[in-house]
Amino acid sequence: MSKITIIGSGFSGLASASFAAKAGHSVTVLEKNSTIGGRCRFYEENGFGFDMGPSWYWMPDVFEKFFARFDRKPSDYYQLVKLDPGFRMVFGKNDVVDVPAEMNDIENLFESIEPGSSAKLKKFLKEGKFKYEVGMQQLVYKPAYSWFEFMNYDVLRGVAGSHVFKSVRSYVRSYFKDPRLIALMEFPVLFLGAMPQQIPALYTLMNYAALDMGTWYPMGGMHKIIQGMASLAQELGVEIQTDAEVKRINVRNKRAVSLNVNGADLKTDGIISSADYHHTEQVLLGKEFANYSETYWKNKVFAPSCLIFYLGVSKKIERLHHHNLFFDADLDQHAREIYQTPEWPENPLFYVCCPSKTDPSVAPVGSENLFILVPVATGLEDSDATRKKYFDMIISRMESFTGTSFVNDIVYNRSYCIRDFINDYNAYGGNAYGLANTLSQTAVLKPSLRNRKVENLFYAGQLTVPGPGIPPALISGEIAASEIHKQLQSRYHETIV
Ligand SMILES: Cc1cc2nc3c(=O)[nH]c(=O)nc-3n(C[C@H](O)[C@H](O)[C@H](O)COP(=O)(O)OP(=O)(O)OC[C@H]3O[C@@H](n4cnc5c(N)ncnc54)[C@H](O)[C@@H]3O)c2cc1C
Repeated sequence: MSKITIIGSGFSGLASASFAAKAGHSVTVLEKNSTIGGRCRFYEENGFGFDMGPSWYWMPDVFEKFFARFDRKPSDYYQLVKLDPGFRMVFGKNDVVDVPAEMNDIENLFESIEPGSSAKLKKFLKEGKFKYEVGMQQLVYKPAYSWFEFMNYDVLRGVAGSHVFKSVRSYVRSYFKDPRLIALMEFPVLFLGAMPQQIPALYTLMNYAALDMGTWYPMGGMHKIIQGMASLAQELGVEIQTDAEVKRINVRNKRAVSLNVNGADLKTDGIISSADYHHTEQVLLGKEFANYSETYWKNKVFAPSCLIFYLGVSKKIERLHHHNLFFDADLDQHAREIYQTPEWPENPLFYVCCPSKTDPSVAPVGSENLFILVPVATGLEDSDATRKKYFDMIISRMESFTGTSFVNDIVYNRSYCIRDFINDYNAYGGNAYGLANTLSQTAVLKPSLRNRKVENLFYAGQLTVPGPGIPPALISGEIAASEIHKQLQSRYHETIV
């Protein structure tokens, strides 16, 4: 039995811990923060319970597949509900589109906005399903060390039919004309951290995930998934230590031999680091053993960071659903301010999650729990004055839309932005979602899952393959655990022969 150490307790760290334990290793997870979950931490204050990061539960099949690998089901750990409507898109004070849960209703919605569009939607989603199946079955569960992994007939046939060289923007516009339908179909790929014109149309598989598979919510909050994964890991014998910040990875003869944590050196046979990749390499490991230089990171296209407000409001607010996307501003201008200039946006789009519409456990009776997110560029100067300016702007836009004044009913207010991402997660440039999924940052072109100079060091998480988001983070943990297991086994065979 080898001793594997996992750095970080987010989705990828916990996933890799369970897979490594299942393979028979002794596994310890070291987490710098005092609570587990990484970007999906949870905290309670004044009777409100806040998920700190992710709020969209998409691709339920990936979670089922994860738990099934351990003969478990998500329902062993948390209760899922399907949201209906899945989400609300706000285009103006009296211009909203609610996206229903059931496909018949979605088709009727499309038809009511653009006659003839429901038939196009069916074709679009049929292609999306094909891409989803190609992506999930042929592409994402690979370590992506080399293009040769993808060189077989099924993969090439699948990729050829997946519009890899067309952009989401031109693909969507070849189907739909109404600007609201275009926004609705382009919005899911914004999760991938780049503009629809930069993302290959392969990723319209996200539309299939969003519309066909639906938007779900684990009662109690997204953190219930983390709690479930931590329980699973512990059932498999994994030890999870919090307040355990790794300060150094010690290397001898091309192997990581120990980690410096809270002043002591812990011996290890292998490491999976799910902490931010740049931090692991440049700070914990040092330039000598890093796969990538500072210049490499400077030249990467990062997905946006974000300014978040966690608010407790002591009254109910009408006209909000669980998920609300405020698209009542110019998307292209906001995108330029994120990716081209980068600067604080003049009139941003934003997102409001109000889980208290679904879940009474996250707010006191008669109150609302609000999570407001404004996407911004990474690396911006993040001051209290700037946060306050955006708070005033967003609350005023929300009050105007909802027709309810609630600024004086805010009983809990916390903001979170770039400097918090850096302090809490050692995030490069304060990134929230890792790298953008552009064509030049896909698969083999992403930061490698293995360290090429330290043979028993692997990486997991949103900065390596397959990419950002909870489902990819789970998958990345699985691949990293499988790769370290193979490495330790081959090492074992070498030493006994
Ligand atoms: C605001 C926000 C909203 C999001 N919304 C969604 C969504 O709705 N749906 C979705 O699917 N995805 C969403 N995402 C993306 C998703 O949350 C992430 O891709 C995923 O959680 C990343 O998991 P991870 O394991 O890669 O990294 P992390 O969760 O960041 O885990 C890394 C861990 O490493 C720890 N660590 C760092 N340095 C050290 C060290 N030196 N020693 C010990 N520990 C260390 C960190 O504290 C952290 O706990 C969102 C992300 C954010 C930030």
